[in-house]
Amino acid sequence: MKYISTRGKAPALNFEEVLLAGMASDGGLYVPETLPQYDAAEIASWAGLPYNELAYRIIQPFVADTIDGVELKAIVDDTYAQFRHDAVAPLVQIGHNEWVLELFHGPTLAFKDFALQLLGRLFDHVLERRQQHVVIMGATSGDTGSAAIEGCRRCKHVDIFILHPHERVSEVQRRQMTTVAGDNIHNIAVKGNFDDCQALVKQSFADQSFLPGGLQLVAVNSINWARIMAQIVYYFYSALSLGAPHRPVSFSVPTGNFGDIYAGWLAKNMGLPIEQLIIGTNANDILHRFMCRNQYEKHELMHSLSPSMDIMISSNFERALFDLYQRDGLAVAELMERFNRETVSVPDAVFERARAVFDSHAVDDASTIATIEQVFEATEYLLDPHSAIAVEAARQCRRNSATPMVALATAHPAKFPDAVMRAGQSEAPHLPHYMNDLYQRDERYTVLEQDLAVVQGFIADNISSTT
Ligand SMILES: *Cc1c(COP(=O)(O)O)cnc(C)c1O
Repeated sequence: MKYISTRGKAPALNFEEVLLAGMASDGGLYVPETLPQYDAAEIASWAGLPYNELAYRIIQPFVADTIDGVELKAIVDDTYAQFRHDAVAPLVQIGHNEWVLELFHGPTLAFKDFALQLLGRLFDHVLERRQQHVVIMGATSGDTGSAAIEGCRRCKHVDIFILHPHERVSEVQRRQMTTVAGDNIHNIAVKGNFDDCQALVKQSFADQSFLPGGLQLVAVNSINWARIMAQIVYYFYSALSLGAPHRPVSFSVPTGNFGDIYAGWLAKNMGLPIEQLIIGTNANDILHRFMCRNQYEKHELMHSLSPSMDIMISSNFERALFDLYQRDGLAVAELMERFNRETVSVPDAVFERARAVFDSHAVDDASTIATIEQVFEATEYLLDPHSAIAVEAARQCRRNSATPMVALATAHPAKFPDAVMRAGQSEAPHLPHYMNDLYQRDERYTVLEQDLAVVQGFIADNISSTT
């Protein structure tokens, strides 16, 4: 399968190249040139497959020219064997035809494990064959860093450097990153805020001459195509459990960078009967504002109780725009360039197409807390604040109570004890038993000044080995 850029100018690449490339050279994002299409009979034949078997079937066509089927099967099996629940992505019912899809049974208790556990293994496979060593560099304000570290901890051909803002991530989140042992894992606490960390990463990608011996930086942020690909699977898996393709299913997705819900849209375009796709945002509601009035406008960043959705721009929305513009890459390039300077609108036809696919709702902190409280009172099920946004957005946007509604639960409540306590819990939610010793484990991280030369010097000096 070939991948093309949303801005229409970069060369088409194969899967292996896209895996290592990150952003396209024209500033766009890579998407598959065509999507595999499945009819109802074929989708129905997947009913009852275990998660890993289904994942193999769905992922295989996307990587076919790079990874042999037997090897892919082994990678996928190993990836989803890391999850602590037998179903990998279990459904829990919280109301009439209302479900929560638990995506937090991976090693770091957030849905990013679905993609990053796979990504680390894909990197190692491809790099082994190329006999190449790469350096992953990323900035995190929480979930992504720990999921990336867990995903790459056993990679022989990868050194991973994750920058987090010193003393500005929660203790659970810091410990999830800094207690992972491995010579190739490097945590840097930067004396600055998250934006400072991101700026250091961005500047390092722009000029990689600080790396010794022709090494290359690789990105694991949410624009990486392989991450999105992995997320398509749980839409099929949950919908099949609820009776698809014989009846449609709706999904509500707590949205930040739009990677997760975009995967849902791909599932729909591949043939899965999805009735509604609901974008749930927090107060950082650029997408909801766009869906309401066709104005794509940056606002200042707000800090919310759902920090993993605190974004100003949803990077992956560009991928959806590319399809909504009927794959006119030059029009997308023009729109995105104007968007750098000003508020933009899309042509009416494009906007109408967007409204036909997506519903949206913005959920503020007060209503997030109220939802956690209400659901707990009614069912004794404890939602994390991100998942609560999905539940509330679903309730606000739902059109048809005969269609199963699935809210994606993207994090375990124990990751966000403050929000949960504010929702009337008398004690902080417990971490799963296998993480009971998180507070006793040894931490390893280095505090550095917010200075490009200092950070780059540290990276150059600490690369574990080169193959
Ligand atoms: C990353 C994240 C999100 C947002 O996902 P996107 O793909 O960026 O839209 C939602 N909830 C949690 C817990 C996350 O970690």
